[in-house]
Amino acid sequence: MTFYPMLDTPTTRYSVQPGTGFLDEGYLKATGSQHESVDFNAITGGDTDLGDPVYVVEGGTVRAAFWHKGIGGIVLIEHPDGSEAHYWHLRDIHVRKGSYLNAGDLIGQVGKGGRGQWYAHLHFGVRKKAGQLAADHWPSTHIKDPVKCAAFIREHYHEPLAWLEARNAKKRIDDLQAQRGEPTRVLMNEQEITGQLVQVHGNGFTIDARTNPVRIYTNDPDVGSIPATPQKAP
Ligand SMILES: [Zn+2]
Repeated sequence: MTFYPMLDTPTTRYSVQPGTGFLDEGYLKATGSQHESVDFNAITGGDTDLGDPVYVVEGGTVRAAFWHKGIGGIVLIEHPDGSEAHYWHLRDIHVRKGSYLNAGDLIGQVGKGGRGQWYAHLHFGVRKKAGQLAADHWPSTHIKDPVKCAAFIREHYHEPLAWLEARNAKKRIDDLQAQRGEPTRVLMNEQEITGQLVQVHGNGFTIDARTNPVRIYTNDPDVGSIPATPQKAP
């Protein structure tokens, strides 16, 4: 089982879905495409991670942040070593192109693709050299031969789990917790909610109420609701 702090919820347990690893043969068999990334999903399965916060693993500059009608929310981050991490299928995007992010900053929330066509998951990959490939580049669209396509992917993409491990991503959860400090108390719909303040944006806030069985994501505390489970995408 794998857990990385780029996904962080009260369950704090994610794994790479079977058949969705880097250059996974199962993925090729099922879809006819080579998979250049990994798909992270909550071990609780299905859409149980819909809306879960996604944090950037390492500091870097946002090179792209936009909605794609098929892929859903896309965020690309260029890191100091020149590599470029991409986060796909996000339901919401909390960053803008050109911004600098610190490790652990919230970039978005797990989604289901542009048309809600998949179970919620995070598609995470790393290109070796930033700016070489389009934000929505999908190698199998361009290289039909699976062997040549795999060779292209090995040349242009890092193995994502190795990239994460090299950054000690597995061990950073305590650091992130420490950065965020003590739990914050807020009043919503006359109910007191205690949780970690993840990011303040505009006149609203985002709370990861990891100490409670609820999570709250809203820009307006006055109209916020308290869902028992993550809210469905509109
Ligand atoms: Zn994927």
